[in-house]
Amino acid sequence: MNTTWLRQWSRRAADWGADYLASVRERPVRAQTKPGDIAKQIASSPPEAAEPMDAIFADFEKIVVPGITHWQHPRFFAYFPANSSPPSLVAEYLTAAMGAQGMLWQTSPAATELETVVTQWLRQMIGLPEGFHGVIQDTASTATFAAILTGREKALGFAGNTKGLAGQAPVRVYASDQVHSSIDKACWMAGIGQENLVKVPTQGPHLAMDAGALETAIVADRASGMLPAVIVAALGGTSVGASDDIRAVAAVARKHGLHLHVDAAWAGSAMICPELRHWMAGAELADSFVFNPHKWLMTSFDCSVLFLRDPEALVRTLGIRPSYLATHGKDGILNYSEWSPQLGRRFRALKLWFVIRAYGVEGLRRIIRNHITMAEDFARRIAAEPGFEIVTPPMLSLFTFRLVRPGLDAAGLDAQNQRLLDAVNDDGRTYLTPTRHHGKLVIRVQIGQTETTSEDVDVAFQAIRELAGRLQ
Ligand SMILES: *Cc1c(COP(=O)(O)O)cnc(C)c1O
Repeated sequence: MNTTWLRQWSRRAADWGADYLASVRERPVRAQTKPGDIAKQIASSPPEAAEPMDAIFADFEKIVVPGITHWQHPRFFAYFPANSSPPSLVAEYLTAAMGAQGMLWQTSPAATELETVVTQWLRQMIGLPEGFHGVIQDTASTATFAAILTGREKALGFAGNTKGLAGQAPVRVYASDQVHSSIDKACWMAGIGQENLVKVPTQGPHLAMDAGALETAIVADRASGMLPAVIVAALGGTSVGASDDIRAVAAVARKHGLHLHVDAAWAGSAMICPELRHWMAGAELADSFVFNPHKWLMTSFDCSVLFLRDPEALVRTLGIRPSYLATHGKDGILNYSEWSPQLGRRFRALKLWFVIRAYGVEGLRRIIRNHITMAEDFARRIAAEPGFEIVTPPMLSLFTFRLVRPGLDAAGLDAQNQRLLDAVNDDGRTYLTPTRHHGKLVIRVQIGQTETTSEDVDVAFQAIRELAGRLQ
């Protein structure tokens, strides 16, 4: 397959991508397929002989695309966004063309140096103070895993990596009962264990961790011979946007010498708007902070940024430096593989650089502010509709609602809301996902797609109203 072949098919792919994005609004948002529908159309063993690209491309369109849930659909209001944008896409193509691997400075100096600069741009954009260093990870799950490993090693005097955890005092991690499951998973993978992840109760309108209960738990654990190590604070929890009072939590972390990690995977992008930064007050006191440009900053999946106040502790935790990787070069160079669990690293900084320059920070702010305004309008319209109630008001661009029907008990209401959700997602005009809030099934709405307009919100609202009206 020569350069002519590549040119021809790259052009075809570029045209396909542009046509796809121009018409994605016409497709049902969630894939309308059943389990196994796609797999049964694919040969169960690989071809021995080469197949023509025409046939491969045709099968992509015929078999794969109908089995895709369209995350770039302007009426994708499920989960959290994983938005993208033309400049991000173009950068991803260029990255793929070079196939660059950025594990060490010398394996792609531009990948390393651009990552250092662009993560400093992001630091400034969200208003974290100087002194925080950034590193790009694939996902927030990986970033949080790295942060928890670092906090574990700090508490153990870096003996965990050498001696293992057997014979050590149990390492304890604290977080609210609203944090993402990636915190639990990180504790499993770090050898800390679910039972040593203490879930602190939440209170108040933002479901913030009770800082008094947090401190009591730390003091009691230490008194019984355990090793309090890490606190994870939530900024924009996945379920309903729960957010801790980071300053209050940071005061406890400082007083007791714990590592404070802030999980702002989704909400972090909105912090580029100065008027929203009250949500992150106190984050400047954290030891680490993660957010995902791949969620809400028009940057294609995957791209998560971990900021650290003291990267030395992270590098001491994750930097192995086997001799065959030794970099011979000038002093002071960074090898980002020492900042991540994995060795090999994609060149993700390029798409950030393209996106930030192509939109400008003000352009990005405008998109995010628009999302928040649209979510507030959407919530207002639902609140005004008989038979509906807003359960949690918009936290940035996320709110939850539910149908309320007189005469139904709790289980009946849950079932009714599940039926509405199924009807909406089978209908295809929009896509919503559920969560549980105080034991009740509620329907989440978030707006964060690059191309969403108020007409899209209107179409989604009409679909919900119409389908709810048809429920018995
Ligand atoms: C999405 C999300 C995560 C996990 O993000 P990944 O990048 O998919 O690992 C973690 N925490 C919060 C609050 C999230 O919203």
